[in-house]
Amino acid sequence: MMKKDFEIRFWGTRGSIARPGKEFSKFGGNTSCVSIACQNNLYICDAGTGLKNLGDELAKHNPYQNIFIIVSHFHLDHVAGLPFFAPFYKKNHNIFLTGPASSVSKLKTSLNKIFDRELFPVNWNQLLGKPKLLTHKEIMQKANATLDFIRLNHPGQTYGLKITTGSKSVVYFCDQEPLNQFEHLPKRQIANHKKNTQKFLQQTSVLISDAHFFNNQYKQHRGWGHSSWQHAIALASEAHAKKLILTHHAPENTDKDIAYQIKNLKDSKTKEFKIDVAREGMSILV
Ligand SMILES: [Zn+2]
Ligand SMILES: [Zn+2]
Repeated sequence: MMKKDFEIRFWGTRGSIARPGKEFSKFGGNTSCVSIACQNNLYICDAGTGLKNLGDELAKHNPYQNIFIIVSHFHLDHVAGLPFFAPFYKKNHNIFLTGPASSVSKLKTSLNKIFDRELFPVNWNQLLGKPKLLTHKEIMQKANATLDFIRLNHPGQTYGLKITTGSKSVVYFCDQEPLNQFEHLPKRQIANHKKNTQKFLQQTSVLISDAHFFNNQYKQHRGWGHSSWQHAIALASEAHAKKLILTHHAPENTDKDIAYQIKNLKDSKTKEFKIDVAREGMSILV
């Protein structure tokens, strides 16, 4: 078993829609899915198309007592992998799922839209693995680490997650846009949001952040609910995060485009923390 507190693995790093093909093979074409192992519990942040590969691996070998799937919100790029998660069709796994809903019945209503005969032939109730639905409060009690949730600025109800054990913490922050870009909002609302966000992120060991747009692409997409690389860097800097990982790459941005932006990043020094760009298959021990 691993000696570190967390093992983070990236199964899906793409935003909005999956991008197969050579031009996307380095940074990855599958949509949002990150697994965070903490001792014998596995936390899966989002269930985009990247969940398929993770599920196949778990179906072959599952060293975890509990598997927690934590859906940030129900946009397609964050749930499209759910029907194809192999452990759902096996009996010998302990699977729990939570999402942006105030009750289990509301969560069930959202899942029934995906597991509906018109979209997918298997009904949620027919899954052999019998995944159990939990509210945020229930999953916080069940988890072997401290979980905290925060509402993010994104169309529809969306939550960021912080997992803490001992002195280490990992934050998953997808999808979100900085509220200070919304100039028409009251200054006090923006200030409060900033204060709460910074408090939530304070000194996190690893911040996995929405960085959908390159800086020069953001302006035309203000209000879409996503951050630029610059926004994510500012967020990490203000919160004194120790490491920042940029993810949820826009589907238009090829490997070549991303590599070019990374080169520019390296040219500008002044970084008090490490920055990495998420690649499908990448893993980090914390
Ligand atoms: Zn998304
Ligand atoms: Zn979204």
